[in-house]
Amino acid sequence: MRVAVSLVLCMMLAAIPITSAQSDSNQENMWPGDPIDSHVHMTWAALTLEVNEWADNYPEIVDLVSVGESELGKSLWVVRLSDWSNDTKPDGTVKEVVYIDGGHHGNEYLGTALAWLSAKWYINGWAEGNQEAMNVLQNSEIHVLIMLNPDGNDIDTRWNINQVDLNRNYDHFWNTCPTTQPGSSAFSEAETSANSAYMNTEVPDADLYVTMHTGVWIMLYPWGKWPEQPADWELYHQIREDVNENVSTIPIQNANQGLYPNCGTSRDYGYGVMGYPTFTFETDDEQFVPGSFENLNERLEEEMDVMRFLINNVWYWRARLDVQSIEIADDEVTLAVDNLGQASTINATLQYVESGGEVTWTSSPFTVNATNSTIIDLDASNLSYSGDGMWQLYYQVRVINASRWVTEAIEIQITENFEEEDTGFLIGYGIFNSLTTVLSITGLAIVLKPKEESSEDNCDSKVRDS
Ligand SMILES: [Zn+2]
Repeated sequence: MRVAVSLVLCMMLAAIPITSAQSDSNQENMWPGDPIDSHVHMTWAALTLEVNEWADNYPEIVDLVSVGESELGKSLWVVRLSDWSNDTKPDGTVKEVVYIDGGHHGNEYLGTALAWLSAKWYINGWAEGNQEAMNVLQNSEIHVLIMLNPDGNDIDTRWNINQVDLNRNYDHFWNTCPTTQPGSSAFSEAETSANSAYMNTEVPDADLYVTMHTGVWIMLYPWGKWPEQPADWELYHQIREDVNENVSTIPIQNANQGLYPNCGTSRDYGYGVMGYPTFTFETDDEQFVPGSFENLNERLEEEMDVMRFLINNVWYWRARLDVQSIEIADDEVTLAVDNLGQASTINATLQYVESGGEVTWTSSPFTVNATNSTIIDLDASNLSYSGDGMWQLYYQVRVINASRWVTEAIEIQITENFEEEDTGFLIGYGIFNSLTTVLSITGLAIVLKPKEESSEDNCDSKVRDS
């Protein structure tokens, strides 16, 4: 493999003016492509050599899989990055999942390049012992499908080989807006079908999905279909504020308003059907200039800064309920809960689980806003409380209907404030006998595999989410 790659590199370098080749001493970060016309073009063959070399050289962090084939039979590679020596984070909790794809449109090289660089940055960082890269790979999985449309890529066209615009071919309000070449039906194309299958089976719990394109310098969040803000507008607006204040001045807008109305896109599908926080990252149109074979790290540095911010903070892109206290009185449970995440949740319930594992009581639904602390009084008149069960929260991690449900055990001490029944007097004085018993309830955090539950919801979520 190394020999083959070296040969390809030699051939590439031979095609580049000597001066520029010499000026770039860091071949590690070179885009594995050939300069043609006004840009550097990476073929699917070059990508295939490259990603296989990553897998050969860094098996501890690179898991390379093919998720299907293009219409012409080219493998659709996904580079899966994480510290695979550990299934969980160092603290034993579940790793966050990030999904990235590039190259829906075969002539948008910098979008594909940014997906490539997003993988490469973490591989290089790991190899160099970079603390940020190591933290990310120990605490998350990053799945990158670098080139979704290899057939279109290799003939330098927006469409796939069937002349379909892949980013109009997804099953979210497919072909319900003025558009061109959306295909004969949703997911009629091998590439989009494979991508959605990967989302549903491999990364259904992702807390970030970024799909990379080239056009105007902008980041777009849902919806493309509607001008209205999405249900999780707070999350998107907070990310915009944080990125614009601290990382980059890149415009961040609802796609419908920021670009133009569009439908059947992977972005709207990712949010509306999968429930992911989703962005389309559009790098600008300035492609590589022939003869100035730039280091991609420099060319796309600001884009990578934004990606690193989104990936470093992926833990926050959902609701994260953290119970501070539970007080049980005769007919009421008082819950004090913080939301440490930046998404709200609106259908949360508190549940009591008997020692046998059966949920015997579920509260009425309540809302906890993003980055907020709330005290909620819940009617508990039908709670039969044994004292030896456990408490848990059941909630959706975001507001969008399609977002996943989680069940999380509550591991704090419960306060009981039962008022003793006044039985001795015809006219009661309501002798208040405050009995405070502290029970230690422990349990392992159970994070349900949510898509199994919510996948049914997903089927009609697009109707409800409109
Ligand atoms: Zn595009």
